[in-house]
Amino acid sequence: MALETTLRDPIQLTDPLSGDPEPTPGCDVCAALVKQWKSARNAKSLEYGLSRASDLIVELRRHQDTPGQKKARR
Ligand SMILES: [Zn+2]
Repeated sequence: MALETTLRDPIQLTDPLSGDPEPTPGCDVCAALVKQWKSARNAKSLEYGLSRASDLIVELRRHQDTPGQKKARR
């Protein structure tokens, strides 16, 4: 078997910070995080901050990966 040094197909990477977050329907935590994210993305908002926005995306993803995410976490 010859060693392959090139890839046959392009790799599709998912960028966790691209696109809009998708809240789980009916989940209050998701809704709150998305609301904060929208504020953080809005340059006219007092809460504006792109690093804050990316933190919120990460928090949302982490929350959505948590089993039983509809329970209060704190
Ligand atoms: Zn949620």
